[in-house]
Amino acid sequence: MKPILFNFTDGELEQFVTDMGQPKFRAKQIREWLNRGAPNFSVMKNLPETLRRDLDARAVTLPVQIIKKLESRDGETTKFLLGMHDGEQIECVLMRTTYGNSVCVSSQAGCAMGCKFCASTLLGLKRNLTANEIFAQILVAQWELRIDKMTDRPVRPNGDPNNGDVSHIVIMGTGEPLQNTQNVIGFIERANRDMGIGWRRITVSTCGIVPGIRELIEWGRPINLAISLHAPTDELRDQIMPINHKYKLDEVLAAAWDFTAAHNRQLMIEYILLGKKNDAGDTVLYNATPEYAEKLADLLVGRNCMVNLIPWNAVDERDFASPSGNAVHRFQDILIQRGIHTRIRRERGTDIGSACGQLRLNNAKK
Ligand code: SAH
Repeated sequence: MKPILFNFTDGELEQFVTDMGQPKFRAKQIREWLNRGAPNFSVMKNLPETLRRDLDARAVTLPVQIIKKLESRDGETTKFLLGMHDGEQIECVLMRTTYGNSVCVSSQAGCAMGCKFCASTLLGLKRNLTANEIFAQILVAQWELRIDKMTDRPVRPNGDPNNGDVSHIVIMGTGEPLQNTQNVIGFIERANRDMGIGWRRITVSTCGIVPGIRELIEWGRPINLAISLHAPTDELRDQIMPINHKYKLDEVLAAAWDFTAAHNRQLMIEYILLGKKNDAGDTVLYNATPEYAEKLADLLVGRNCMVNLIPWNAVDERDFASPSGNAVHRFQDILIQRGIHTRIRRERGTDIGSACGQLRLNNAKK
């Protein structure tokens, strides 16, 4: 297995280049390229060509290598399937939005949570990602934005070229971040320190691991917390999210409100809208009925939160259906009438399987 130079300390990198008969300053040049997300050594144009070839034969740059890159038709979303040294695969998504460039990263290869609507958990948990493996996903996106700049790629709806850097991070890719809390914290600290991404532009999304939320409160950084709620009663949540057998709704929300109180941050509530096929083959609402909207409002009314309604992205292996646009709006209207901030999440990149672990799953099926 080739060594991953990004994981080397400065001292180790110097040793590596001097062992190749190179002057020490090459280590610094290489480090600069690594920090920009260079996918290989051929792009390091200030190194002699022979050295670049030599490096390519002996080492790799980052802990993740691009296996597949898919672009949505509107040009706003790029999805990466990434491979790691042990053959495990993860996904990350770059979303070019009007407020900035947001990257959705994975925190684990696979997932152990077993949510009934999700593709990422179908093959179980393979392993936790290291802080470097999470960070490298940001670097892959950063390099992609560099390509945008070099090609003057018009990506914004108004046709502007994208001249930005990564500005927002959401830890909402494959895996449960609060089952890998220390590495996730290490990653966030680093993104803040090395890339200047503000705490308030970083969001951790959890299915509700209460001790993990408590760890985040203790850690004390004012990041955003998102809770994947998806059901307003324990009875319903038990059916679709096995974690609810361990941490009940009231415990999860109590921890989440403590988090928002500690940082004066608005809590993000994620609520997937699920339908199901009945015997006649028609789609009926599952957790998206008006009754459940009322129950959700009962839980949240008067609280500092924003509900993100997410029409379910279809996964072949899963026994649900996407609700109609009308049903989604009806659900939202009830929440609005009860005074609850609500947004319907815009679907990005569904044409490239950008939704929730589908690329990795489809690749594994082949
Ligand atoms: N484990 C964490 C983060 C990863 S999942 C969590 O549960 O929050 C990120 C979000 O995508 C969660 O809200 C999850 O429930 C949702 N999700 C999973 N599969 C989905 C699908 N097929 N369509 C829409 N959202 C999905």
